[in-house]
Formats: sequence, structure tokens, C-alpha cells
Amino acid sequence: MRLVLLGPPGVGKGTQGRRLAVERGWALISTGDMLRDAVARRTPLGQQAKELVDAGQLVPDGVMIGLVRERTLQADAQAGFVLDGFPRTIPQADALGAMLAERSLQLNVAVLMQAPDEEIVRRLSSRWECPVCRRVYNSLSAPAKDGRHCDDHPETELRQRVDDTEGTVRWRLQVYREQTAPLVDYYRKHGCLKEVKSIGALEDVYGALSQAVAG
Ligand code: AMP
Repeated sequence: MRLVLLGPPGVGKGTQGRRLAVERGWALISTGDMLRDAVARRTPLGQQAKELVDAGQLVPDGVMIGLVRERTLQADAQAGFVLDGFPRTIPQADALGAMLAERSLQLNVAVLMQAPDEEIVRRLSSRWECPVCRRVYNSLSAPAKDGRHCDDHPETELRQRVDDTEGTVRWRLQVYREQTAPLVDYYRKHGCLKEVKSIGALEDVYGALSQAVAG
């Protein structure tokens, strides 16, 4: 199963996508996490991407397409993968379709997750992540057990993302509307779009996502 999670930043793609991938034995491919790791390790990619990521601007399509092409060839992605944060533009979606077709594969489903903007701004300003495993917590709705450290890495203090400040979040929502939202029609026309409301209990959203993926 190869699926894309579409939707604005902070809608829950990472949290729900991670659970889905772990439970089904698929790879979670989060391009945002890959970029943040590259920035933290100061690789050439990280140096190129840092300013753009911090400012909530998109990294060039060519760079992202190369990254995803390599990542999807790795052994853990062969049983299936969940893409979180890619594609974000029409050229990226075209490239994804082409790279799968070259391997005689196709995308099974694109799931659009939706929530109101105000809810997203609220969620992102209470979002914390583990810098080691990238697990995401929410200080209001899904806090870490002790409120400060990762449940899986008790030595590691949780951090807020540089791009989760209110101003940058509003800018990222605008980038989403301009560059990424057209993918909704794109996948609708391809006949593989499913929609899930990402509001309410995490468990209910996960149930709706599982259903969308199943049928
Ligand atoms: P995310 O964690 O998905 O919110 O991504 C964080 C940031 O990484 C974005 O604001 C962009 O700067 C960059 N990024 C992640 N995925 C992509 C992509 N597919 N295309 C361009 N930039 C991306």
C-alpha cells in the first residue's frame, strides 16, 4: 500500500501517519523530518534547506523529488509507505506518479485530512516534538507522561519547532493554500482521493483514516 497524506500543517498527518505505518508495517516517509534531520546534522542538504524550512518556505522541487526517489527505494519502503509532507506541489505529484510508474507501481490512495485554521494555529502552538525520534506531543491534548521529556527517550527534553510560531504558521497555511491545495483536485481527478475530518478524539480520527485506507 502506497499512500499520501494531504492536508495543512498541523492537521495530524505526522501523528496519525506514524501510527498507521507502525501498525501496518509500512515506512513513514516524512519529508519535513528528513529535512530537519539534515539541518540538525549540518549536511549539505541541511545547509541548503535550513533558512527555507525555518521560514516556512518550500524547498525546491528538484531537491525534494531526489530525496523521495531515494527514500522510497529503501528496503523498509518496499511493503508500502505513508508519505507525510510530499507531494506539496503539482510537479512533485507528477514526479511521484512517474517514479512509481517506472517501477510498475502506483499510488493507492491520497487522504485529505482537514481541520479549521484556528484549530490548526492552536494545535501548532501547543505542539512539542522529541528531537531524537521525532514523536510529536501536544501539551493540551496528548502530553508526554511527565510533560517535558519524550516517553520513549526519558533523557530527552521535548522541543518546539522554530516554524511553529504563530506568524510562521499563518504563512505556512498560506503556502499550503497556494501551492499544495491544488493537489486535492489533482488526486480527485485521478480517482484516488479520500477525505477525513481531523477534529475530535485522536482515536476517532485514526478510525476514519483506517477506513479511508481500507476502502
Ligand atoms: P512539515 O514538517 O511537513 O511541516 O515540513 C516542514 C518544512 O519542510 C516545510 O515548511 C518546508 O520548508 C519543508 N518541506 C517539507 N516537505 C517539503 C516538500 N515536499 N516540498 C518542499 N518543502 C518541503
